[in-house]
Amino acid sequence: MKAAILRDVNDMRVEEIPAPEPAADEVLVRVAACGVCATDVNMWRGTNLEGTFPFVPGHEWAGEIVETGSEITNFAVGDRVVGEVAETCGVCANCKGGLPPVSCLNVRYYGFSWQTPGGMADYCTAKEPRLHKIPDNLSYEEAALVEPVSIGYHGVWETAGGVLPHDRVVIFGGGPIGMLTLLTCKAAGAPAAMVEPHPHRRDMAQELGADAAFDPLEGSLEEQVLEFTQGRGASLVVECSGNDAARAATLDVVGFRGRIVIIGIRANRTVPLELDKFVFKEVTMAGSDGSGFVFAKPLELMSRRVVDFSKVITHRFPLEEVNQALELGAGQGESSKIMIVP
Ligand SMILES: [Zn+2]
Ligand SMILES: [Zn+2]
Repeated sequence: MKAAILRDVNDMRVEEIPAPEPAADEVLVRVAACGVCATDVNMWRGTNLEGTFPFVPGHEWAGEIVETGSEITNFAVGDRVVGEVAETCGVCANCKGGLPPVSCLNVRYYGFSWQTPGGMADYCTAKEPRLHKIPDNLSYEEAALVEPVSIGYHGVWETAGGVLPHDRVVIFGGGPIGMLTLLTCKAAGAPAAMVEPHPHRRDMAQELGADAAFDPLEGSLEEQVLEFTQGRGASLVVECSGNDAARAATLDVVGFRGRIVIIGIRANRTVPLELDKFVFKEVTMAGSDGSGFVFAKPLELMSRRVVDFSKVITHRFPLEEVNQALELGAGQGESSKIMIVP
């Protein structure tokens, strides 16, 4: 089969390798679509060190089961599936302590090492606990969005406690995660504003339904948000950019008893925060780690079609052109979600 192999920093090659053989507890999936994540781009550029070279990246895949191991009971050949990014051990102190799967001490992420290959290939394998059937009314490309949708969903619904029509949401960062988080909040009927320096991304946010889009480099962001929220500040702030100034500004725009959820990451940064604002506004701040193993709920949300998550897909490339896809993903905001279609 063909596979995109990240051999080193700035060294991605499409190579012919043997298709994986599914073990007794695995299925073999023919990949139909695989999203390019900023994590993939950053590992390629060397600004993210999560991967161990060489490896097949791609943790946002969707496809069809073409073979099942002998121990597989709930899935069959022909099923359309997506796979969670990681598998948990079920036996560590956190797993046994009833903590959520994302806390597993022996968690194994796929798309980050040779032993745990991802979906930028014609085929990949997955164990049954990672798999979810794709609702009939979702295309493979839409289903491949479930991982980045889950990141915002996990942050908004699981770590920040949810979003309702009476909320006033401000989202920092108009990359794919910020856009999909915006759609998740709009699906709940909440007014939501996007904070994003790139004009192209501000336009896209408004096309997707943002009620306002602010340039943080233009005038006072705090004043713009106060105007947007009739003087009250945001009841929910979602930080998706990982930017130092954005992280600090979350405390400027949040309102009294507001909630801040930090999703965006940037390796090893220490950011000064004006914690007096945290105290005087009685703010709750939560961190939210990745997609949180919540695919089932976002898949249902997406299948309701209250909002159209697929609008975030701006470009498609065949597997052979993975380098062009990464190049575009590394650009300055001219793309949103890029799909590899093997
Ligand atoms: Zn991702
Ligand atoms: Zn565990």
